[in-house]
Amino acid sequence: MTNRSTIDLAALKKQLLAQRQEILADAQSSEQARQPVELDQTSVGRLSRMDALQDQAMALETDRRRHVELQHIESALARIADGSFGECQNCGEDIAPKRLQIDPTAPVCIDCAS
Ligand SMILES: [Zn+2]
Repeated sequence: MTNRSTIDLAALKKQLLAQRQEILADAQSSEQARQPVELDQTSVGRLSRMDALQDQAMALETDRRRHVELQHIESALARIADGSFGECQNCGEDIAPKRLQIDPTAPVCIDCAS
């Protein structure tokens, strides 16, 4: 018996889909922050332009992380679909359920991750 049987895949799938939805909604609402800064050039001073650039850089970084997280969720969903969820993508061993509880999108076992 593998530890995979102890994971409620249906519930997990639901959770991952909800998470994905949240990230996508988040991405949409913050889209404005990533727009080019130069539009403000005439109306704001030099200092606030620098602030705006900094804000934009932060928004881009947040967006990048969001993208990585989305990819993790997508591939976890794909592994649920093809039945390989809970399997280390590197060595093929079962990933410890505790590890999956902490991060259901973990693609490799603790040995391969470290
Ligand atoms: Zn492994």
